[in-house]
Amino acid sequence: MVPLQQVTVGMLAGVIALVLFSTADAQHGSWGYTGDSGPSTWATNFPNFCNGQKQSPIDVSTKTATQKSFQPLNFKGFDTPPADAQMRIKNNGHAIQVDLLSKTGKTDNYQISGGGLPGTYNVLQFHFHWGSEHTINGKRYDAEMHVVTYNAKYPSASEAAKVSPDGFAVLSVLLEATSKTANPGMQNIVSQLSNVQNKGMNYTYPTSFSINSLFPADKANYWRYMGSLTTPKCNEVVVWTIFKTSLKISQAQANALKTSCYFNPAGDQEQQPLNNNYRPTQPLNGRTVFDSSNTSGVPQLAPTVLALFIALLSSTALQL
Ligand SMILES: [Zn+2]
Repeated sequence: MVPLQQVTVGMLAGVIALVLFSTADAQHGSWGYTGDSGPSTWATNFPNFCNGQKQSPIDVSTKTATQKSFQPLNFKGFDTPPADAQMRIKNNGHAIQVDLLSKTGKTDNYQISGGGLPGTYNVLQFHFHWGSEHTINGKRYDAEMHVVTYNAKYPSASEAAKVSPDGFAVLSVLLEATSKTANPGMQNIVSQLSNVQNKGMNYTYPTSFSINSLFPADKANYWRYMGSLTTPKCNEVVVWTIFKTSLKISQAQANALKTSCYFNPAGDQEQQPLNNNYRPTQPLNGRTVFDSSNTSGVPQLAPTVLALFIALLSSTALQL
């Protein structure tokens, strides 16, 4: 038995420590998408790393992207949920997120590899921003899904977040409210929004669903660049993959995302609808954006043929 006095002192120290950390957290650790804690304050409040040179999201300019061929991306666990998989949807006060858990503590249930990724990555969770964080030629989509993964060569996600630049890989699916019918994959999310209305609420799915149902059929064409987490502390450790084909959802589904949940805990006096939870695009600062240019089946002009073609064009021009 531990003496009562010792327990009391220990508990008191614990409470003091908690209060101190909470205060520190309130001053320096809180962030959001509006007002005093909005994205324009992140670079000041989180100088490591939100004011860095390789930040995300970005605007993808399709004309200036550099074409590059990658090996096919490999997806493990995306089609059929692994036997011990458990999915938990939650409102974390910034977004609606689905954690991919394992009843037996596995970390490799869901994995991605190939596609030019520097290793095999374990999938942690996916979440949604609305509108989209990345823009394409200045166009903002209705929403964007991020599938967050960390490099399996590191013992944990927090260890992977410390190193650069291969610690994390994030898959991005742009969502577009152009479908007349509800997207079945997205309905798995929308149907549970009432269970995660307020910050801190969560709900465990009785049965897991296929992550692939939230992806477009074409996963071979994408943009690739090196960037950061899009939320503080904005660690510059992310290999980004943005699929070119958007997922089509219905307007009703997009509206449900925008109106069903709140940034605040239940009972908060100033309930703010969880909406526009995206960071504005960040400067490219000379980074290259690659276009996966999946040209399989399309014949490529050999350099010599191309040179002849240019020479022919030049001689034609001279004759004019
Ligand atoms: Zn995100």
